[in-house]
Parts: sequence; structure tokens; C-alpha cells
Amino acid sequence: MLMPRKKFIAGNWKMNTTIDEAVELAKGVVAAVGDCTDVDIAVCPPYTNLVAVGEAIKGSNIKLGAQDVHWVEKGAFTGKVSCAMLKAVSVEYVIIGHSEQRTYFGETNETVNKKTKAALGAGLKPIVCVGETLDERNDGKMETIVEAQVRGAFEGIERDGALTCTIAYEPVWAIGTGVNATPEQANEAHAFIRRILAEIYDDDFAQSMRIQYGGSMKPGNAKDLLGQSDVDGGLIGGAALKADDFAGIVKPA
Ligand code: PEP
Repeated sequence: MLMPRKKFIAGNWKMNTTIDEAVELAKGVVAAVGDCTDVDIAVCPPYTNLVAVGEAIKGSNIKLGAQDVHWVEKGAFTGKVSCAMLKAVSVEYVIIGHSEQRTYFGETNETVNKKTKAALGAGLKPIVCVGETLDERNDGKMETIVEAQVRGAFEGIERDGALTCTIAYEPVWAIGTGVNATPEQANEAHAFIRRILAEIYDDDFAQSMRIQYGGSMKPGNAKDLLGQSDVDGGLIGGAALKADDFAGIVKPA
């Protein structure tokens, strides 16, 4: 029998918070939802704040995530951070292929695949982001784009490893815009992603993998989005920067 999918809420703090601000926010999250065991929860601060946030969440049920990783083990890659470096500071999750990485920093389906493989090899749990732009949706290309992103990310990745990943469906037009996908749009896209996963792996795999929704999720719309049958949590940007708002999303989950 398949295990029910436990909801998973992750906060992507992006390029926000100095170290003091990060610790304060992390403590706020711990105070609000740190003892919650019904939902998996992670916070993903900037690299410079990982150690301090790791200390602040110690002993709670909040896990630590990073916002990106490089696929090479070590060497002359100025500005990059490796999987081993993340592991060494107790990072458990890593966001890969965020649309901001794709749009501004040349991330491709191929680099997402390399990062996902490297992260899995190091025992990190990738949160693989996919999603179409507004033009792509309006041109009727949502499925084509998302399918290519999912197939690209998991190319050559064996089933057991892939199962430790989470997919975040994040329509680019909904990220940071205040315009969220409707619960029905989100659920439709998630169900589509499950169909692709069933083709790549199998039905049990597709039913087991967690798919988060991301894009202007906030306390006011979280209940409806999270109430959809194929929505297994959220990747939260703006609303993750206030402990009360973040908690207001974790609670309905
Ligand atoms: C994100 O960038 O992952 C995100 C979902 O942002 P926001 O919640 O601000 O739309």
C-alpha cells in the first residue's frame, strides 16, 4: 500500500536577510511551528546564514535547505558552493532550477540534471523547480515546457534517488507577482507532472512523489491551494520572510 504523501512547506528566503535578521526570522519560525510534526518544514536562507540558522532551528522540526548548489566536487569555480560544503553545515534540502536561476543565471534543464545528480550523490534532497512563463502558458505550451523540464531534470536518475526529490511547480507568472495560480490550475499542472513521472518511472512512483506549489502562496490562499488532491505543499518566497505569514501557511497544511 502506498503511504499518504506528507505535506512539505519550504521557505525560500532568496537574497534576503543579514545574519542577524536570519536568526531572528528562524527563531520566529521555530516559536510558531517548530514543534509541528504533521508537516515537513524547511527554511532556505542565503549561504552566509546557513550555519547561524542551523543553530537557531536546532532541536526543532524545522530543517535546513540551501537555494542552489554546484555539481562539481571542488576546484576553480569562483562563487560556487559544493554539495559537500552544504552537507558539512547540516543542510538537508537544496532548491535546484529555480526560475530566477533559469532566467538570470543561465540555468538549463541540463544543469538542473547535473545539480540534481550531484545532490543525490551527496545525500542531499533536491527540490527541483519547474514552471512555465506567462507567454508559454498563453501560447498553450505549459505542458510542453513542464514536460521538458521534468524529463530533463530526471534524465538518467534511478528511481530510488529520484524518490527522495520533491518537485516544486512554480508558474513563473505567479512568482512574486501576487497573482497565484488558481487551485484548479495548480492541481491540473500537478496531475500532469504525475502523468509524466508515471511514464518516466511508474504509477507508484508518481503517486509517491511530493509536488509543491509555488507562486504567491500566502495565508489567505494556502488552504484552498493545499486542499487540492495533487498539491503536497508549498515553496514559499515572499510570505516566508515573516514568521507569522509562514506559520499561516504551515497551519492549514
Ligand atoms: C519562489 O520564488 O519560490 C516563490 C514561490 O516566490 P513567491 O512566494 O514570493 O511568489
